[in-house]
Amino acid sequence: MNIAENIKKLKNEIPAYVTLVAVSKTKPAETIMEAYNAGHKIFGENKVQEMIEKYEQLPKDIQWHLIGHLQTNKVKYIAPFVHLIHSVDSLKLLKEIDKQAAKNNRTIDCLLQVHIAKEETKFGMDFNEVEALLASEDIEALKNISIRGLMGMATFTENKSTIRNEFRSLAQFFNKIKSEISYPKFDILSIGMSGDYEIAVEEGSTMIRVGSSIFGSR
Ligand SMILES: *Cc1c(COP(=O)(O)O)cnc(C)c1O
Repeated sequence: MNIAENIKKLKNEIPAYVTLVAVSKTKPAETIMEAYNAGHKIFGENKVQEMIEKYEQLPKDIQWHLIGHLQTNKVKYIAPFVHLIHSVDSLKLLKEIDKQAAKNNRTIDCLLQVHIAKEETKFGMDFNEVEALLASEDIEALKNISIRGLMGMATFTENKSTIRNEFRSLAQFFNKIKSEISYPKFDILSIGMSGDYEIAVEEGSTMIRVGSSIFGSR
């Protein structure tokens, strides 16, 4: 596995407006440094504790993205530095992120995680829950968060048309919300992983989260 080459190849494949988040979960700091030394500075982690440890060890110009489930009581640990939280799935969590962001004098960018897969296990809200959250009066008061878009994961399947349909419905929903709400920057659609990023990009992804195609299997 040549990490630098994998990243270069991926970046050549995707349009310039698509951001590549290199998913470094389970990989040690040395491995992340291989990507960093090749010029890549955007990394995704799914566990709070692991992300904090890596943040402490690694260069401070890295953008850390939290892509895994976030418990309310853990927000305070990542609030000082997290760049984007992809996995917001409740108003309660959003309020806590706002509170901790304010304590740190910053605004934290967030994505709402939408459940599009058939599996029961995946986290996230359904379309109605997202609309209800965005329509909630409470949202107005949250001055230290910025809802930048949506994140979703397709069903884990070989069936490409299932994956495409799920991404397409999320992209349509994303565009609908974008046209309805008045947020200045609702511009991120985080869909696509190693197995399905090509389909995701075709369906409108602006941010892909790729782990094994860069770092090898976990
Ligand atoms: C692990 C993970 C990824 C990356 O998966 P790969 O198949 O290794 O590319 C992307 N998104 C989330 C939410 C993940 O947990």
